[in-house]
Parts: sequence; C-alpha cells; structure tokens
Amino acid sequence: MNDNILRIAIQKSGRLSEDSLKLIKECGIRFDNGAGKLKTDATNFPAQILFLRDDDIPGYVEDGVAHLGIVGENVSEESNRDVDTVHKLGFSKCRLSIGVLREHDYNNVSDLEGKSIATTYPRLLEKYLSSNNVKAQIHEISGSVEIAPSIGLADAVCDIVSSGSTLLSNGLKEVETIFRSEAVMIASKHLSEVQKDLLDQLLFRIKSVQVAKN
Ligand code: ATP
Ligand code: ZN
Repeated sequence: MNDNILRIAIQKSGRLSEDSLKLIKECGIRFDNGAGKLKTDATNFPAQILFLRDDDIPGYVEDGVAHLGIVGENVSEESNRDVDTVHKLGFSKCRLSIGVLREHDYNNVSDLEGKSIATTYPRLLEKYLSSNNVKAQIHEISGSVEIAPSIGLADAVCDIVSSGSTLLSNGLKEVETIFRSEAVMIASKHLSEVQKDLLDQLLFRIKSVQVAKN
C-alpha cells in the first residue's frame, strides 16, 4: 500500500455527494469524476477519491482502506467504528427524531415506555432511551420506516427528519429530537506521517474555504 497518498471516501450518490465533491474541488483538488467511476486519482494533490455507499464509509476508514471519509455524524455515530472525527463540514444538516401517530396523545418521553419503535438507528435510539430511563422495544428495519405505525408494525418511529414533510404525509408528528447531525470528516487512526501532513494541508484548505464563505 502506498503510504504517501490520502484515499478519501465520499458518498457515491445521495444527499452528501454534491457538497462533498464541491468541498474537495473548492480545496483546489482536481480530478476527473466521470459518471459511474468508483475511484479516481487527483491530478494535482497526492489523493485518490473513492465513491461508496455512505454506510460503508466508517468501516473502510476504521480498517484504513480509506484514510479519510465524509459522512453524516448520524451514520458515523451509529456505526460505532473507531475513527477520529476531525472536522465538522456544515452541510447535510438534519436531525434524528421520534415520531408518533398524530392522534396519539403524547406528553413526554416516558410515554414511550413499553412501546415499539421502528428505526434504522438502533444504537442511537437505545442510547437516548436508556439515558431517559425508558424501556421500549426497538424494531430495526432497513428502510421505509415512516410507514411502520400506520400498518401496525410499531407504535413509533425514529428517523432522519429535515423538513418533517415525510412524517406529516404518513400521519405522524415529531415528538422528540434525539440527535442533531451534519456532515463530518472522519479519519483513520493509522495514518503515516506523510498522510498526517497531507491531512493538515487539507484541513487548512477546508477551514480557509469555510472562513471565506462566512
Ligand atoms: P446510500 O445509498 O449511500 O446508502 P442513503 O440513502 O443511506 O444513501 P441519503 O439519503 O443520501 O443516504 O443521506 C445521506 C446522509 O445525508 C444522511 O445519513 C444524513 O446525514 C444526511 N441527510 C439525510 N436526509 C437529509 C435531509 N433531508 N436533508 C439533509 N441531509 C440529510
Ligand atoms: Zn446509506
């Protein structure tokens, strides 16, 4: 393996992709991102970009297959992988919230006691419930979480919300926010000295881009 380049993993296609690419470009790093490519070499910086599913990024960074990654804090925290969060990037802001059926008379978190909650974020939800001394059943499902209460699969949901319109259109109301997220840069704990130096250069450029925007 080449210890003298930085391999940076970003989401292949989704809500993080465009801003991740934009950030790298604004840092002055040039590369050819032809459609469908899974990796590409930067032409003016010792870096390679990998295009992956966001859920896979923390694991690749923990293993050192990628040295850096851009993911939502929600995904990074849920993965529980041993990586360093080196910088908050300020985009893809969203929140992880609990929703219940609109007609449900909800007062506070203790109303969730004994209920079933469908989510793709079982770890973050468990953390929240136990810190509030609430015992509920967590149903881990892989998608279409919001439909669960209306089909009787669960009493509540815990999912990513940005505007709340998906909750509303499924007859749900948002009752608790359990986690606030934005895109972050994560780094492997096994960087070579050269890679640490490249990371410092990259962070310096990212911070300059952020300052210029504010
Ligand atoms: P993949 O196919 O890569 O697994 P995905 O469907 O899991 O993609 P996206 O919906 O593209 O993921 O969301 C990626 C990340 O963007 C989320 O983990 C979250 O951090 C953030 N995000 C999700 N929804 C929103 C939203 N509505 N507004 C802003 N950011 C969001
Ligand atoms: Zn994903």
